[in-house]
Amino acid sequence: MIPLSEPELDGNEARYLQECVESGFVSSVGAFVNGFEEQFGQLVGSRDAVACASGTSALHLSLVALGVGPGDVVAVSDLTFIASANAISYTGATPLLVDSEGATWNLDGELLHDEVTKRARSGGQLPRAIEVVHLLGHPADVDPLLALGEEYGIPIIEDAAESLGATMTATGFADRHVGTIGDLGCYSFNGNKMITTGGGGMVVGDEGLLQRVRHLSTQARLPGHHYVHDDVGFNYRMTNVAAALGLAQLERLHDFLERRRRISATYRSSLDGLVTMCPSAPWADPSCWLSSILLETTEQRDAVMSALRADGIDARPIWTPMHRQPPYLSSPLLSRTATRTVADRIADTGLSLPSSASLTDLQQQFVIDRLLVHIGATK
Ligand SMILES: *Cc1c(COP(=O)(O)O)cnc(C)c1O
Repeated sequence: MIPLSEPELDGNEARYLQECVESGFVSSVGAFVNGFEEQFGQLVGSRDAVACASGTSALHLSLVALGVGPGDVVAVSDLTFIASANAISYTGATPLLVDSEGATWNLDGELLHDEVTKRARSGGQLPRAIEVVHLLGHPADVDPLLALGEEYGIPIIEDAAESLGATMTATGFADRHVGTIGDLGCYSFNGNKMITTGGGGMVVGDEGLLQRVRHLSTQARLPGHHYVHDDVGFNYRMTNVAAALGLAQLERLHDFLERRRRISATYRSSLDGLVTMCPSAPWADPSCWLSSILLETTEQRDAVMSALRADGIDARPIWTPMHRQPPYLSSPLLSRTATRTVADRIADTGLSLPSSASLTDLQQQFVIDRLLVHIGATK
C-alpha cells in the first residue's frame, strides 16, 4: 500500500534514542524533554513550550488551565478529529459545534461572531473558550475570533495538531506560525502527523498559562520531597524517550514541509479543473499535511476510494463531523444551512490522497494516473 501519511525516521532518531537509553533518563525528566521544548518554542516563535503525552492531553490541559469546567460551553470546529471535542468533554463542559466556511474548510468565525453577539445582547450563555482547529494543514481565519476575544474576553485555544509549520502571511500576522496567535496553541506528534514522537503533544502560548499547564501535567506536585500536590493534576508529561525522537524529527521539519508542499502543488497542477482541491487561501502558507480533494457525490467518492485501494493506494475520507458522532448527536450546532452543512459536504465528498514526505515522484505519478482513470477523465 502507498500510505496516506507515514513517518520518516531515518535522521538522528536511532542515535538520540540510544543516547537517551544510555543516559538512564527514559521517563518524564531528562535533557531531551527540555531540549525538545526549547527547540520547538524557538521554531514556532513561542518563548515557552510544554511537552505532553499526546495532542489530546495538550488540549485537555489547555482547557483546564483556562478554568473551563462543568456547566461551561466551548465553541469548537464541527469538522475535526474527535479528540478536539473530547478534550472539552473531559472537563465537564459541552461543545458548541461550529460549521466550516468554504474558503478554508475551518471554523466559520463570522457565524460564531454573530451568534455570540446575539447571545450577549439577549443575556444568553457565552462560550467560556473558543477552540479553533487548523484542519489538514490549512490555517483558520482567526480575525473574527480575535475580535470576539477582545470584545467579550473569550480566550482562544488553537488546535494546530495537524498543522505544525503552517504560517499566516496576511498583514498583522506575517510569518506567524499557527498555534502562536491565540492564548494557547496545541500540537500533536502522533505517528501520522507532521512530525512524530510515537505519541506526544505540545502546548505553546501565554507564559502564565503555560506555567499552570506544566504544573498540571506533572500531577500538580509541589517542589520538595514530601509528595504534596496542590490540585488534581494529570500524568500528562512527555517522556524523555519520546522527546529524543521529537528532537530528531524537528531537525527534519523544514525538509518535511518542503516535500509535502511540493506534493500538494503537483496534485494541484495535475488535477486542476477536474476535481475541487483543498483550500489554499492567499493569506496563508499551509503545511500541506494532507492533500485532499472533493468529488461530485458520495457515491463517486466511495467508488474512487475503493478503486484506489484496490490499486494499493491508501486514500481516505476526511473526518466525519462531530454532529454525526454518537457522543455529540445532541450537541448544539451552528450552521448557515438547516440541512446539509458545509462540513457535511466536505465529509461526504472529500478524499485525502497519499501525502507522506517519503512519497516518491514515481509513486505520486501512479496515484495521479490511477485517480484520473477512476474519475473518468482519461480513457
Ligand atoms: C491528531 C489530532 C488530535 C489529537 O492528537 P493526539 O496526539 O492523537 O492525541 C487533536 N486534534 C486534531 C485536529 C488532530 O488531528
